[in-house]
Amino acid sequence: MTHPQDEAQHFSLTDPERFWGHQAEQLHWHRKPSAVLKRTTKDLKSGTSHSHWEWFPDGEISTCYNCLDRHVLAGHGDQPAILYDSSVTNTKQRLTYKQLLAEVETFAGVLREEGVKKGDVVLVYMPMVPATLIGILTINRLGAIHAVVFGGFASTALAQRIEASRPVAILTASCGIEGNKGPISYRAYIEEAISISSFKPPKTIIWQREQLVWRPVKKTEGERDWQKLVKSARFRNIKVDCVPVRSADPIYIIYTSGTTGRPKGVVRDSGGHAVGLHMSISYLFGIHGPGDVMGCFSDIGWVVSHSYTLYGPLLTGAATVLYEGKPVGTPDASAFWRLAEEYKINTLFTAPTALRAIRKEDPDNVFITEIGRRGGLKSLKALFLAGERFEPAIINMYQDLLRRYGAAGSQVVDNWWSSESGSPISGVALVPHAGKNRKTNVKDHPPLPIKPGSAGKAMPGFDVRVVDDEGNEVPRGNMGNIVLGLPLAPTAFRTLWGDEERFYKSYMIRFNGKWVDTGDAGYVDQTGYIHIMARTDDIINVAAHRLSTGTLEQAVTSHPLVTEACVVSVPDAPKGQLPFAFISTSDGGADVKSDEQLFQDIQKLVRAQVGAIASLGGMIRGKGMIPKTRSGKTLRRVLRELLENAVHDEFDKPVNIPSTVEDPSVVDVAREKIREYWHAKSGLHAAIEARAKL
Ligand code: AMP
Repeated sequence: MTHPQDEAQHFSLTDPERFWGHQAEQLHWHRKPSAVLKRTTKDLKSGTSHSHWEWFPDGEISTCYNCLDRHVLAGHGDQPAILYDSSVTNTKQRLTYKQLLAEVETFAGVLREEGVKKGDVVLVYMPMVPATLIGILTINRLGAIHAVVFGGFASTALAQRIEASRPVAILTASCGIEGNKGPISYRAYIEEAISISSFKPPKTIIWQREQLVWRPVKKTEGERDWQKLVKSARFRNIKVDCVPVRSADPIYIIYTSGTTGRPKGVVRDSGGHAVGLHMSISYLFGIHGPGDVMGCFSDIGWVVSHSYTLYGPLLTGAATVLYEGKPVGTPDASAFWRLAEEYKINTLFTAPTALRAIRKEDPDNVFITEIGRRGGLKSLKALFLAGERFEPAIINMYQDLLRRYGAAGSQVVDNWWSSESGSPISGVALVPHAGKNRKTNVKDHPPLPIKPGSAGKAMPGFDVRVVDDEGNEVPRGNMGNIVLGLPLAPTAFRTLWGDEERFYKSYMIRFNGKWVDTGDAGYVDQTGYIHIMARTDDIINVAAHRLSTGTLEQAVTSHPLVTEACVVSVPDAPKGQLPFAFISTSDGGADVKSDEQLFQDIQKLVRAQVGAIASLGGMIRGKGMIPKTRSGKTLRRVLRELLENAVHDEFDKPVNIPSTVEDPSVVDVAREKIREYWHAKSGLHAAIEARAKL
């Protein structure tokens, strides 16, 4: 008998109209779509045409209405919506749906008075506090488009995103609180970013936090005090209703790293996003509605948090735990398990790097065991992990802990997706029947078994294939490029903000418009489980965050002594990968600065221009060691392979050198430099797992 997850998958691909039509009916539409899927052709200015699609054309929807008003009208207003827990300020706050709606209605009045209209972009640069979620929902209530930028990005990266999205307003806070380092003022970042950017957003609305107040608020420069505006609007009883938008209108832009220095603005459609998340939160994550609690511990700047800290749980009327703190150090490695116990979390979602950090601090699992033994994890049905490959050894360890202390059948679910996909492309559905019938009461069909090392099977609407470099499908079990057939599932992007050509060039041209390139390589095994092994492009995945080598090289070469730089990834035990720079300096540079001094200077530039998250893991300085093709393209992959070999103590292992290389002897220079560096810094770099054997 076929498993219901396989059935749902088959159904979604063979009859997408019926599958997604049923899912769409579960939501409120201001205007019901007359069709589910329209297949089209897109003509680009360059003269190219490619196949395209549109979900729920002519439907009109308000995601905010579906997240808030709908539940209050259905009588669930007193149910918890946001359970805020800040271990860095020792604050807790519980907001019910009714309370959250009241906040959003009022703040919508504020934003409207400040000039925000349907279709405008509002940029959000905020920490993990309830005001952030209120702000985002409010932008949506007005039919405007949010562009959330990770609060850890420094001014240059922020300025790039301001320039690209041209927001009519920025929502920010007076400070963020990073772990136990105390408050970090956002003011300098925002003001500097605005001064660098050629586009000047007219308004900056500041959520004042008592830990560090933004003062003075320069009204003449468009700065506004959030709380004061809300107080005034409340006093005047100003409230705003939802503004519906067309299904294909953007709900948000999320910037992600492309292979060049310029970030890509992934655009999310309003209708497809709501329908797809409402499906996955129940089908995949087992969160169905009031009474269920989701704990998605990522930062709101990343797609995971957009989808499953905010929209997914609220679309279905469940509670979401908003955690401001770190997995370790605030105050210790018990944080996640304490939250799971205190809020009776049913599904916990985080990145593998967080669990690696916890394991490092608590290698014997003392905290989870202590809480588990007293029954504190009995509500926990699953631990979802995404963002990077997760080594089977730790999956097995957590699976074992969940078996002992979690809810019956509790499991670890590795799921694979990206900013572009908006929801998991693969995973193991906790409630497989919900794919076919969202209202099903049959919740006890066991999910597919998990396979540690695999990110599960394809999710509805995602037609996952593995192809060779010519775009031909390879037999099961063979490694290749992982691509997606058209159309993509409703949560996925269909374009990049203001750049149709780049969408085609980045994702479709490689396979002549037949497939969408995910940038990942791996294989699908005989039973249909997907294994994600590596990126095929110049993206580095640091602690589940994507960084482009281009952006990093730009920062490294901004040092006056650096004449050339090539940044690649080096395996790293806690973070998966770290950026590693190969640099050449101008003559005389060696006398001026020691390698160590230069490394520190460059590190500062990287932190200032990109952010602390991009800190380099190491650097080698030398000449004639960066291999190039005859046409001058840097062969980053060759250096990456040499570093990977070094981590596994295989310095002399042959690497794949393309025939287009200009001077193969450069590779030998690099090899020797790496050997030298390794001997000097022994033990600095280690891989998270042994090499995959295929
Ligand atoms: P982002 O757009 O920042 O979410 O990054 C997406 C990328 O992270 C994917 O293209 C993969 O390279 C990687 N990724 C995400 N989830 C997984 C996973 N479960 N296993 C392996 N790699 C993953």
